[in-house]
Amino acid sequence: MDGLAVEFRTLTPLWTGDAQRRSDQVREAGLLGSLRWWYEGIVRGMGGYTCDPSQGGCDFDGNAYEKAIAAGYGEAEAAVRAGLCPVCRFFGATGLKRRFRLEISEMDSHPLFFKASPQVYQAAGNWLWRMFGGEDTGGTKTGRGPDTRFTFGSSVLWGERALTRITPVDSEHDDILKRFAFLLDTATRFGGLGAKTQNGFGQIRILNGVLPEFIAAGKDLVRRDLEKTEASIRENPRKAPPQREDLFTLRSFFSRTYRLTTAETYVQGLRPIGVPWEHHLRHYVPCAFDIRYKSQQRNPFSGLGRDVGLRPFFRKRWGDEVTNLLFGGLGGYRGAERIASRIRVSHLFKVPGDDHWHLKVWGDVPPRLWEQVDRHPKLEEVVQTVDEFIRGEKGMFPGSQSIEEYEFKPEEFLG
Ligand SMILES: [Zn+2]
Repeated sequence: MDGLAVEFRTLTPLWTGDAQRRSDQVREAGLLGSLRWWYEGIVRGMGGYTCDPSQGGCDFDGNAYEKAIAAGYGEAEAAVRAGLCPVCRFFGATGLKRRFRLEISEMDSHPLFFKASPQVYQAAGNWLWRMFGGEDTGGTKTGRGPDTRFTFGSSVLWGERALTRITPVDSEHDDILKRFAFLLDTATRFGGLGAKTQNGFGQIRILNGVLPEFIAAGKDLVRRDLEKTEASIRENPRKAPPQREDLFTLRSFFSRTYRLTTAETYVQGLRPIGVPWEHHLRHYVPCAFDIRYKSQQRNPFSGLGRDVGLRPFFRKRWGDEVTNLLFGGLGGYRGAERIASRIRVSHLFKVPGDDHWHLKVWGDVPPRLWEQVDRHPKLEEVVQTVDEFIRGEKGMFPGSQSIEEYEFKPEEFLG
């Protein structure tokens, strides 16, 4: 087999922008970054060791690699002997190239825009406009107060029959493709792809090209990788510094996809920030910020009304400290992204053949997060709080259904 051609559709646009925040460029790099993050979470979830790329990643021993190749070992085995963790073996490390090529095609770019509740239009508009580049990327802002008008210079990617092609670049073709199938299935089913998934982007549905047999075989291969890594760490303990405990792992991960049966009135009432794509209401509503942060606001002067949003809901239930650790930042629009958010909310989207809006909420909540906090929720209480906010009697979309759920089950990962 030469490669894998996977057809997919975007449910919410894909954001793969680079430092200049232009999403129509550097598509592959953005996707690879998010796939690597998922692969790390999977390997750690299975109990395996991976390096921490933010600390420089694995130390590749080029001599050991060459020696192993000369002695007749395959590329994968040679990488183990050169001291690489399973993630670096697959995605490459300094001195060793990635084991596959990834190309994306059949996508169009659309202008970036958002939607927000009229009550928070101005504050949300200012924040999103700044966050997504403002004038630096060619955006404009005119008018004052509630009459402020925004445009964005950035764009997002959209494809109803988009294509990604994965081509292995070493001799163990099928193994690479199987691992990739497992990885892509997990990432898209329970999370998202590309950058800015915490801002609603990157909801993908695979249409074809990923066979269930491949996914199962990929999972087996990743599991076998771990055994090799364990053996290599035993031989060479200094190569594996202790695993940091606050990194993403499937063990502390949850995901819920909701089918919203009561969202239409909310959607109809939203006001655009930027210039909407004409057909968006058939496909998605870019309002993740509204749901996650705030769709109604307590008047700070009169004290009337109440804040409505996932974040204020958590604050009321669990207090400021817990909320800031889960949603990032120190509160306030300006600080909200200073610490990465642990909980991510998609934009609203439609799935083929269903007229109702859908929404995905997912996150990783490592126990280590709570080290300095006395009163904090367990993972299942975090999920419960999300659930109550989304579909509870006093929630944002009462009576909605949860249609896909991820919870870590150790038995999934044992032989
Ligand atoms: Zn590594």
